[in-house]
Amino acid sequence: MATRIAGISPRKPIMTNMPDDQMGPAIDAVAAACRVARSVQQDAGVRQITKDDRSPVTVADYAVQAIVAMALRDSMHDALIVGEEHAGILRKPEHEAVRRAVVDAVRMVHGDATEDVVLDAIDACDHDGTAERFWTLDPIDGTKGFLRGQQYAIALARIEGGRVVFGTMGCPNLSGDHGRPFDDPDPVGVIYAASVGGGCRQLSADEPDGEAQPVPSQPGDRAFEPGATVRVCESVEAAHSRHSDSQRVSSHLGLAVEYARLDSQCKYAVVARRQADAYLRMPTRKDYVEKIWDHAAGSIIAAEAGAVVTDVSGTPLDFGQGRRLEANRGIVCAASAAHPMIIRAIDELGIAAAV
Ligand code: AMP
Ligand code: MG
Repeated sequence: MATRIAGISPRKPIMTNMPDDQMGPAIDAVAAACRVARSVQQDAGVRQITKDDRSPVTVADYAVQAIVAMALRDSMHDALIVGEEHAGILRKPEHEAVRRAVVDAVRMVHGDATEDVVLDAIDACDHDGTAERFWTLDPIDGTKGFLRGQQYAIALARIEGGRVVFGTMGCPNLSGDHGRPFDDPDPVGVIYAASVGGGCRQLSADEPDGEAQPVPSQPGDRAFEPGATVRVCESVEAAHSRHSDSQRVSSHLGLAVEYARLDSQCKYAVVARRQADAYLRMPTRKDYVEKIWDHAAGSIIAAEAGAVVTDVSGTPLDFGQGRRLEANRGIVCAASAAHPMIIRAIDELGIAAAV
C-alpha cells in the first residue's frame, strides 16, 4: 500500500471515520443488487434504452441504482450519492414497458415499491461530487458486457476528502475459482470489499454474511526480468482503451505479454487476485475524462490488495474534482514491481504527453 514510486509520495495511512455499521448495509445492498441483476441478465429479452450519448442503459442499471439508493437512505438518512443514471428518459411515455420492468425488478427486494418511489430513488443519486463525504455508484459497470452475457460489476464506494475510503464491488459472473475462464460466467459470483488501511476481502455473492476471505497484500511482488511474461488486462471495447498503446508498452519493456480482455471494473479485482500484473486503460481521445463511478470501488480494492493505482502519468487518482476525474487521464493499476516500469515506458513512448 504505502509503496514509494518515482515522483509519488506514499499513501498517507489514514483510516476512514466511516462507522462500521455503514459498511455492512452497503455490502448487503450490493449483494441484493447482484441477485436482481443476475435475474435480469438471464431474461432473454433484457429491455434497454439508448441514452443521448448512444450508450445502452438496461432495466438492471435502473433497478440496481434504485435498490442501492433505497438501502443507503434506509441505513443513513443523509447519504449523498453520485450515481451514473437518472430517470429522465425512463419517465417518458414511450418507455412505459421498460419502466414497468424496472419496478418489477426492484420489487424482488422491496415488495411494496411504487413507480414513484423507484423513479425518485434513481433521481436521488444526483449529487455533484463536491461534498466532503459522499457515495458514488455505478449500478451496472460494463453494460455492454452485461448485454453480451459476460462480465459486469455493481460498484459502490465512499469518498471522503477526495479519497476513496471504502469500496464494495459485486461481480456476479466472476468466479471465486481462479481457474474458471473469464468468458465462462460463474453461477455464483463474488463480492469484494475494501476500506482504507483495512485490507481487501472476498465474499461469495450468494452468501454475503458468510466467512470473508482476505485478499492478501504482497508488497514484494515478482520481479520482471527481460523475457518474462507480463499479464495485462484491458477493456474489451477498443473505444474505451487504446489496445495498440498497451501493445507498444509491453514491447517497449521487452516483455512477452498475455492479454485478458474483460468488461467492467472486474479488471481491478483481477489484479487484486493476482491473475493479472496490470490493468491498463490507455486513453483513446484527448477529450474523454474518466467518471468517478468507473474507478472508485475498483481502485481501493486493488490498492488494498497491494497494487498501485494511478493515471497514465503516474499521478494518483483525485476523487475530489466532482463527477469526473478531471485531474487524471487513463489508468495504470499494477503490481508494485510492474507499476514504475510501465509508467516509465508510457513516458518514454510519449503516450501520456499526447493526452
Ligand atoms: P470497460 O468495461 O472497462 O470498457 O468500461 C466501461 C466504461 O467505459 C463505461 O462505464 C463508460 O463510462 C466508460 N467509457 C465510455 N466511453 C469511454 C472512453 N472513450 N474512454 C474510456 N472509457 C469510456
Ligand atoms: Mg461504468
